[in-house]
Amino acid sequence: MSATADIGVTGLAVMGSNLARNFARHGFTVALHNRTTAKTTALVDEHGDEGDFVAAHTPEEFVAALKRPRRLVVMVKAGDPTDAVIREFAPLLEDGDVIIDGGNAHFEDTRRRERELRDQGIHFVGTGISGGEEGALNGPSIMPGGSEHSYESLGPLLERIAAKAKDGTPCTTHIGPDGAGHFVKMVHNGIEYADMQLIAEAYDLLRAVGGYTPEQISGIFRTWNTGRLDSYLIEITAEVLAHTDAATGRPFVDVVADEAEQKGTGRWTVQTALDLGVPVSGIAEAVFARSLSGHADLRAASRDLPGPHADALSGRAAADFADRVEQALYASKIVSYTQGFHQIQAGSDAYDWDIDLGRIAAIWRGGCIIRAAFLDRITAAYDGSPDLPSLLSDPRFAEEIGAAQDDWRAVVAAAVAGGVPVPGFSAALAYYDALRAERLPAALTQGQRDFFGAHTYRRGDREGVFHTLWGGSR
Ligand code: NAP
Repeated sequence: MSATADIGVTGLAVMGSNLARNFARHGFTVALHNRTTAKTTALVDEHGDEGDFVAAHTPEEFVAALKRPRRLVVMVKAGDPTDAVIREFAPLLEDGDVIIDGGNAHFEDTRRRERELRDQGIHFVGTGISGGEEGALNGPSIMPGGSEHSYESLGPLLERIAAKAKDGTPCTTHIGPDGAGHFVKMVHNGIEYADMQLIAEAYDLLRAVGGYTPEQISGIFRTWNTGRLDSYLIEITAEVLAHTDAATGRPFVDVVADEAEQKGTGRWTVQTALDLGVPVSGIAEAVFARSLSGHADLRAASRDLPGPHADALSGRAAADFADRVEQALYASKIVSYTQGFHQIQAGSDAYDWDIDLGRIAAIWRGGCIIRAAFLDRITAAYDGSPDLPSLLSDPRFAEEIGAAQDDWRAVVAAAVAGGVPVPGFSAALAYYDALRAERLPAALTQGQRDFFGAHTYRRGDREGVFHTLWGGSR
């Protein structure tokens, strides 16, 4: 087999197939491989007319089909299958070849794989890909890590197949060395969890307190989608809420089991944030909200616990409440992104990745699940001030959140009074209030720690480390 392929894709389930078709549609010759060869044949049979494909039935044929330096995308099930595929292909590769792992790998696995392959002269590029199957085909947001050399070879191809932001910028960039790409994709997914939770809380409030029907709430979301909340997730929320179940004629949202599932990237985000000491309370509440929803027995056993009785609003009061919920949602969203970008900065510092936060916001503007008009503003904030300590330090965001805060508080208060759980809205508000507090009760916590464990404390009025001899009670 002669080496004619610009790039190869192994792993031809939905993501790999669509990515391969995307490369081919952009004029690249794509070598195809899958463990089960029938999938390779099926892809060529069904979509062979979309571009130049080279079907390979063995790893040897696949590698022989690739031009050098070889670029080989692995799109298999994350975890052990990725290691198995690397073990199979690495011995067939040569110095300077590039393996791209587009699966949802944990960034620590990516760091390990990159280290092991670097010793063999192979460049390993852990790459976050967001946008689901539709994005893989028509333009995802792509977050490659790995060496500078690998991006020189790979970047021009990725820039062609990536989504384009409204200003035409490709939604991909070299994120940073080794696991940086998968780390940023992980935080992207964490932010996605938080965004989805906040939207779900807004819906719950509009229904329980505002008294709106799912159909009416769909209309409200559609209106919001024409303003500053304009985003893919708000758009699809409006669609889901307008959908009627064909079997019963009831709103779809009323027939779906209310137990949200998760694949793990949100949990990884929170676990990593705990290790880095970064308060991502909004993402954590979103992960916990999903896990609480899944405890069906616990929820059934708790159904008779007492709660408040409040009549839903109507007319002008309901419409005013909907406007306030929009403010609360927007303010909480600013906090989620503030926390997520803080985590990326902390990861970048801890692992020496030198990540450009403005570029991250820029490549999330198209293709990915959290794409939103809002990301233009984050890009502008970091462009104007690359060393911004926090998104909340940006004067425009500070002004907007300040303008929203009265309504935000009113919404959280209404939720508490009405017995509607809003862990995302209230955690975001608590974070905001904690950040702006002149003094935190952490001072008392330090006193307690010194009392029971002689952990010592520092003072605000003089240098040094202190311990108090507490009244002989222990
Ligand atoms: P998937 O269901 O995660 O994986 C199926 C593919 O993995 C098949 O090609 C399968 O080959 C191959 N595979 C499994 N075990 C293997 C092994 N031990 N050796 C060789 N090949 C093996 O497929 P997917 O949904 O297309 O996702 C692919 C990757 O993209 C995953 O890592 C996923 O996390 C990531 N991802 C998915 C999405 C999404 O929206 N689905 C979005 C972003 C990223 P056979 O056909 O031979 O079984």
